Amino acid sequence: MIHPHTRIRYISDEIGYGVFATQLIPKGTIVYIKDSLELEIQPEDFENHSLVMQEQIEKYSYMNETGVRILSWDFAKYVNHCCNYNTLSSAYGFDIAIKDIVEGDEITCDYGLLNVMDEMELSCTRPECRKVLRPSDFENYYLKWDDELKSALKEFSKVIQPLLPFVENGKLNELSIFLKDENIYNSICSLRYKQHSNLPSQYQSEN
Ligand SMILES: [Zn+2]
Repeated sequence: MIHPHTRIRYISDEIGYGVFATQLIPKGTIVYIKDSLELEIQPEDFENHSLVMQEQIEKYSYMNETGVRILSWDFAKYVNHCCNYNTLSSAYGFDIAIKDIVEGDEITCDYGLLNVMDEMELSCTRPECRKVLRPSDFENYYLKWDDELKSALKEFSKVIQPLLPFVENGKLNELSIFLKDENIYNSICSLRYKQHSNLPSQYQSEN
């Protein structure tokens, strides 16, 4: 579920739609949360879709740490990548604004943390653009992401949180522990799909 102070807007034929803030969304605000209505596509179910359907699913979903693809029921699926992103996914079950997002700003995130399987050309126009999104981006950027997340999470209790009722109690407890002691922090690494580091024998033991 996307923050209520957002709306969808058509950007261009190349980019398609984007999501924009309708008023200030301060740093530390939950911008997206995986709610109980999000569609979960298991790996075996994904394989059963036709290739053209798989393309659509890949375009609009993100992959969690267990390889399940999550497809939003609302327009959260239209949030675009930007190398100068203003939100990040966290290990606390939600995406958070890592800087103030002012009215009219596009809500963006870093697709590098969505467990992309293939390289993807990036079309953002920022001078710092990485040009290509790579499956290895997670390993290259997680330290930076964790720094930005810790800084944003510290603002969590100071800002209005319309999506707070949707945060799971367990996650909220973990967050309150971090807010008391920032050394006890859940790294973004827990969102990483472990497929590449798993040995074949481990797959067998899971079956
Ligand atoms: Zn870029």
